[in-house]
Amino acid sequence: MPYQQILEDIAREVAPLAGAGKVASYIPELAKVPPGHFGMALITLDGRLYTTGDAHERFSVQSISKVFTLSLVIQHIGERLFERVGKEPSGNPFNSLVQLEYEQGIPRNPFINAGALVVTDELMRHQPDAKAAVLDFVRRLSGTPTIQYDPAVAASERQTGFTNAALANYLKSHRNLYHDVDQVLDAYFHHCSLSMSCVELARSFLFLANHGVLPATGERLLSASQAKRLNAILLSCGFYDEAGEFAFRVGLPGKSGVGGGIAALMPGRWAVAVWSPEINRHGNSVRGMKALELLTTLSGESIF
Ligand code: GLU
Repeated sequence: MPYQQILEDIAREVAPLAGAGKVASYIPELAKVPPGHFGMALITLDGRLYTTGDAHERFSVQSISKVFTLSLVIQHIGERLFERVGKEPSGNPFNSLVQLEYEQGIPRNPFINAGALVVTDELMRHQPDAKAAVLDFVRRLSGTPTIQYDPAVAASERQTGFTNAALANYLKSHRNLYHDVDQVLDAYFHHCSLSMSCVELARSFLFLANHGVLPATGERLLSASQAKRLNAILLSCGFYDEAGEFAFRVGLPGKSGVGGGIAALMPGRWAVAVWSPEINRHGNSVRGMKALELLTTLSGESIF
């Protein structure tokens, strides 16, 4: 498959969409990111890497980090997590308070903010230093020991994260948070502030395309069944209230973040990451979604 040519064609085709979205501004530090960036990286299971644009530049992965915390918690307790959080698409904004109230403190899925706060809280029961655990995990997944949190982004979220604080307090009032609200928020904001490039992200998603085994080392991180289930949740819940739209247009399991990144994978073949900071009103990268739609169209590869 001529992936390099496909990526270059995609970069050209999405360029006119510049200006069609807005850089996230509710986290002040993210608002400083120049809107014009576009990068994309695809890596195959046998390690062939294809890139275009700003594929090596690091950005704030935001909610894509929810995939790493969820993977770690599944390693520790498997399906028991789903006693505390559901696995149904939300059809609601990622930070919805209303839904959490309706559902009496059991978040609809692990990829909305309330769900990710519960996942972070669960991780802290098994890994007291949840910040170090996630950092160590992504460094191993990507084979890149230099990956770091961005302290300015984490602090910016801490100062303005009133809705996340409300969600955490509400979870606590329903006894669905074991640790202190502030401790959970601190770990969660740090996870969101992970700074990674498209190349590093694509590499970090390869184990999900490989039945739970990290291709670079042969290490099994999840059972084949756990990897399948995680992919199912990515497909149904990875794009907030646009999960249906993403499945319809792209047809891959994936996860977006308000930093403008999207990571996705084709089971048995490759993982891909794209970054373009301008997002739509659902929190998903405008050019990123179009780029992935073009990838599955031009390659003829999707899970359907
Ligand atoms: N840190 C962001 C928040 O909690 C993550 C949102 C996202 O990427 O969707 O609001």
